[in-house]
Amino acid sequence: MKIALLGAMSEEIAPLLNFFKDIKTTKYASNTYYETSHNGTDIVIAYSKIGKVFSALTTTILIEKFRCDMVLFSGVAGAISPSLQIGDITVATKTAQHDLDITAFGHDVGFVPEGSKFIDLDKSLIDIATTVAKVNNITLKKVTVATGDQFIANNKRKEYIKENFKADAIEMEGGSVAVVCHSMGVPLLVLRSISDTADMDAGFDFDKFLSTSAKASAKLLIRIVEEISKERQ
Ligand code: SAH
Repeated sequence: MKIALLGAMSEEIAPLLNFFKDIKTTKYASNTYYETSHNGTDIVIAYSKIGKVFSALTTTILIEKFRCDMVLFSGVAGAISPSLQIGDITVATKTAQHDLDITAFGHDVGFVPEGSKFIDLDKSLIDIATTVAKVNNITLKKVTVATGDQFIANNKRKEYIKENFKADAIEMEGGSVAVVCHSMGVPLLVLRSISDTADMDAGFDFDKFLSTSAKASAKLLIRIVEEISKERQ
């Protein structure tokens, strides 16, 4: 079994690269892939760069070139739901693309023909994440994630996304990674720790909390990887 561990930014995978040993580096398609193995499980780590296009590209490469059997995303997100606070850790139950808009033709926002507004993520991976979090005394909140090629630091846009997608958290990669994984039949887990609340202070909060939130998400991800490799051996 081979597991892909994906982030969007270098800060999101730094804790993973620190943890795993004997890493082999491969350059491909203007990006770097880090191959290792842990307790008998092969692992490929990468950060995609920010946004839907880069993250879809990297996910495709992880599946098609590196032959990964599942993708586990770790990173940070902005909160939309008032019940989420900076530092909270979330797992996505479904994703949507909030900036996919052909409403001029009478379609619902987030929908294009032959696609779907929401993609449900892999239930068994969510269950494993929930169990691992519980064992480690971590509160893991199940969320709907809205993805778009915009850093949201604006209450008006936040409200729009909340109304149209009933989303709890906002980020820039989950929805595109989900499209690739869903199309290829590869299970996906999206784990995100909250770095900001997508309001006018979001830029400031993001810079302040990126490192600690990214570490919290990565730490839980490593425990999930260990649990998956134990279960599948
Ligand atoms: N500071 C970075 C840019 C970060 S963009 C730079 O200057 O290069 C924000 C990243 O964190 C994206 O990868 C996105 O997935 C996530 N994210 C966190 N908070 C977000 C928010 N409020 N809106 C959108 N994405 C957010």
